[in-house]
Amino acid sequence: MTTISTTKPPSPSRPVADIRPDTDPGIVDPAEPGRDCPLCPRLVDFRNTIRSREPGWHNAPVRSFGDRDAALLIVGLAPGLQGANRTGRPFTGDYAGDLLYATLIAFGFARGTYQARPDDGLTLIDCRISNAVRCVPPQNKPLPVEIRTCRQFLETTLADMPRLRAIVALGRVAHDSTVKALGLRAAAAPFAHGAMHQAGALRLYDSYHCSRYNTNTGVLTPAMFQSVFAKVRADLG
Ligand code: SF4
Repeated sequence: MTTISTTKPPSPSRPVADIRPDTDPGIVDPAEPGRDCPLCPRLVDFRNTIRSREPGWHNAPVRSFGDRDAALLIVGLAPGLQGANRTGRPFTGDYAGDLLYATLIAFGFARGTYQARPDDGLTLIDCRISNAVRCVPPQNKPLPVEIRTCRQFLETTLADMPRLRAIVALGRVAHDSTVKALGLRAAAAPFAHGAMHQAGALRLYDSYHCSRYNTNTGVLTPAMFQSVFAKVRADLG
C-alpha cells in the first residue's frame, strides 16, 4: 500500500465545449460530454465514420453507469468498438463486460443477470462505472492528448460523487488519468496490479484491464481480477 498526498483538491475543471447530455437536451450535466462533443478531432472523425457504417449503434460518448451516490467508482480505458460504443452502456456487449459484471455480481456490487444489453435490467449496487476516455478510439488506443482532453469529464465525475470511498482503475491508462484527475503525485502512486494507494479517505485500487487480450494471454486471470474486488469489498464492508 502506498500513501499519497494531494497536490490539489479534486475540483472539476469546466468543459469548454458542448456539454449537453445525450439523453435529455434540457439538462446540462458537466460530468457528461454531449453526444457530438467536438474536442478530439481524430475521435470525432472515427465516430462519424462508424455512424455512417453502423447507424443503429450508439456511436457517441458513453455516459457513466450507476448512481452518483455510490461509494465505488470503476474507471476503464475507453468504450470498445463493438461493446459500449455499440450498446451505449460501459463494458456492455464485449468480453470485458462478461468478466467485469460477473465479478461485480459475485462481490455484491451488482444484481441481476448480465445479458450484454443495456436493457438487461442489471443494477449496480453502491457502484458506478465510467471511462477515462468517453469516445471509442481506433484500435482501442487513445492518444495522450485525447486522454488529457477527456480528463475534464473524469474530474467532474469524481467531484460529483459525495460518498466516493474507493476507485478501481482498470489498466495503466485509467490509473494514470485518475491519479491526475485527483491531483495526486504520479510518482508516489505507480500502477501495479493489486496495488492500493491511500489518498486521504479515498483508496485507489489497481487492476490489469479485464480485456480479452489480457485474459487470453494470461496477463490477468479471473482469480487475479476477483482478488482486487475481494479487497475492495472487505474494505468497504
Ligand atoms: S474523448 Fe472525451 S473530450 Fe474527446 S471528443 Fe470524446 S467525449 Fe469529447
